[in-house]
Amino acid sequence: MHEYFMAESVLRIVEESARAHGLNRVTGIAIEVGELAGVDREALQLALHVVLAGSIAQEACVTLLVVPGRGRCTRCGRVVALATRYDVCPACGHPGVAVTRGSELTVVEMEAG
Ligand SMILES: [Zn+2]
Repeated sequence: MHEYFMAESVLRIVEESARAHGLNRVTGIAIEVGELAGVDREALQLALHVVLAGSIAQEACVTLLVVPGRGRCTRCGRVVALATRYDVCPACGHPGVAVTRGSELTVVEMEAG
């Protein structure tokens, strides 16, 4: 139920920012989901549906944007694409690739009606 807690934190962010901007209704939410964040996107959509019901964003259209994984090899310094956070560097085979992008979940956009 990892996704359920994520959905609740999305709602908190949306409510806070709606309050800060004096909005009464949120019609759209875009969320960036990192490929390496370990999020089941289908489960997150479902959890959001449950969590947003009865909230200021209950009719909001939710868009999940996938952020591809990236990392920097700690040996050769190359920036490489990562499918999982345990990938080895494709250039030198070193297992120490530090994730630089794709491990986060961020609310990037809100629309209000
Ligand atoms: Zn390398």
